[in-house]
Amino acid sequence: MPLVLIVEDNIDNYELVRFLLMRAGYDTLWARNGREGILMAKEEKPDLILMDLSLPEIDGWTATERIKSDPETKHIPIAALTAHTLPGDRQRALDAGCDGYLSKPMNIPLFVDTVANLIARPDTKSKREPKKESDDDRT
Ligand code: MN
Repeated sequence: MPLVLIVEDNIDNYELVRFLLMRAGYDTLWARNGREGILMAKEEKPDLILMDLSLPEIDGWTATERIKSDPETKHIPIAALTAHTLPGDRQRALDAGCDGYLSKPMNIPLFVDTVANLIARPDTKSKREPKKESDDDRT
């Protein structure tokens, strides 16, 4: 079952997102601020991160930059999930390294589709499986 890390400081938003993800068949983890989000990305290697942008301790833009600059976590797709919907906010999230952008309040069918598409990207599959030794590695 794919694992989604929700980085969100607002419990109501978190519970709605968790409900939608569980209903769609995903496991979820919760980080309550950007610092926890960075640590959990590294420890748990989720298949997708949903990143609120306004977060305590370390904001979502900075957390995204750190996750995307760490070789261990840079493959994990990140979708910004935010009420920052001014024109520059989308670009700022993409500039920080976000792979997708979801605005609050959520369009639920669009939310579910975007999550499924980001998880299905071929370069993000099976990264949590332990690497197998292979003869190909010696060439
Ligand atoms: Mn927030």
